[in-house]
Amino acid sequence: MFDYLIVGAGFAGAVLAERLASQADKKILIIDKRNHIGGNTFDFYNEAGILIHKYGPHIFHTNSEDIFNYLGKFTSWRPYEHRVLASVDGMLVPIPINLNTINTLYGLNLTSEEVESFFASKAVKKEQILTSEDVVLNKVGKDLYEKFFKGYTKKQWDLDPSELDASVTARIPTRNNRDNRYFTDKYQAMPMHGYTRMFEKLLDHPNIKVMVNTDYKEIADFIPFKEMIYTGPIDYFFDYCYGKLPYRSIEFIFDTKNEENHQPTGTVNYPNDQPYTRVTEFKYLTGQQHRQTTIVYEHPKAEGDPYYPVPRPENSILYSRYKDLADKLTKVHFTGRLATYKYYNMDQVVAQSLKLFKKLMTLSAPENRI
Ligand code: FAD
Ligand code: UDP
Repeated sequence: MFDYLIVGAGFAGAVLAERLASQADKKILIIDKRNHIGGNTFDFYNEAGILIHKYGPHIFHTNSEDIFNYLGKFTSWRPYEHRVLASVDGMLVPIPINLNTINTLYGLNLTSEEVESFFASKAVKKEQILTSEDVVLNKVGKDLYEKFFKGYTKKQWDLDPSELDASVTARIPTRNNRDNRYFTDKYQAMPMHGYTRMFEKLLDHPNIKVMVNTDYKEIADFIPFKEMIYTGPIDYFFDYCYGKLPYRSIEFIFDTKNEENHQPTGTVNYPNDQPYTRVTEFKYLTGQQHRQTTIVYEHPKAEGDPYYPVPRPENSILYSRYKDLADKLTKVHFTGRLATYKYYNMDQVVAQSLKLFKKLMTLSAPENRI
């Protein structure tokens, strides 16, 4: 008898498996329908011997010392600060938009103070910031919105920014300084030997059994377990009884080049001219030395593996109907990006699962047992 059947061996599931096994002596079966652990962070060495991320580039960043230290028990870290250039008007300029971006793009020589006034003079002020269009127009105005955000967002989501919650483009700040980094979190690093190796360590415990190539619906009726932790898509769990929740997918096209480096930075974004949104060169992220290099093109699409929940009001309403069903199940716990339909980064998923672990411990404390 397993104490927990954990569905999904990504961050959400693996963190709970590790905590429950090592801190509460629970017996765990963790399963994944894919042929590997690690969820969307899975990485491996391709035919050329280059470490690549199967489901697109994953850069770890967090402001939480606790989460950084917790994961640090399962990997050493390679410090890495991601930098992104956007291909706009025939130039490669830094994104998030900052002082360098504006000076390069418009051939100016503004100071930090002057660039604030520049943004203010262009801004289309909104009374309420509700959509992803509002966020950008309100801060930098129409020209920069159209150059950097409108086309990229349409490709990524097949929606106009005005149809998406503000939270989506609000992920990308606007800066009046020369900070070209994509993230400003206190901790920015990559697992030294990759994510998959880190997951192997997370799940390396005598109480944890791992089963891949298995959809939980194939085995849930035959394997005895007391409670379930579910990290797959929530609508699938309930057999789409209220209809499908939209998740955005991506086709990743890899290309290995006979050159040591292909582009000037880890990622180049293509807001306008190409069918893909961005191109990432893995060696920047991993620090690997190799005479060749592998890049990945991201082509967003509607069908395929569910990668992104789509933040917009009607989807939140549909999700909350599924959540009401989930809340009624006392022996099934939902966590992770797909099961809670939240556009979470890796550290947020780890935080969510650590919080659920604490809740499970409180629920099973002797004074709370019936
Ligand atoms: P997942 O990793 O999706 O794991 C869920 C697992 O459940 C999957 O392996 C799936 O196969 C399995 N599963 C689903 N249904 C079933 C079933 N019925 N039976 C059995 N198994 C099932 N975050 C960052 O912090 N930094 C980044 O740079 C970053 N880049 C990203 C780039 C892309 C292209 C994408 C898509 C995401 C990115 N993220 C990034 C987000 C990151 O991938 C997620 O926050 C994190 O991986 C979510 O973990 P999870 O365990 O919730 O979900
Ligand atoms: N975005 C954009 N242009 C860019 C970068 C981002 O329009 O050059 C918008 C787009 O809607 C994107 C969102 O901001 O989906 C969030 O970008 P982020 O890089 O955080 O996306 P992720 O890495 O999660 O795919």
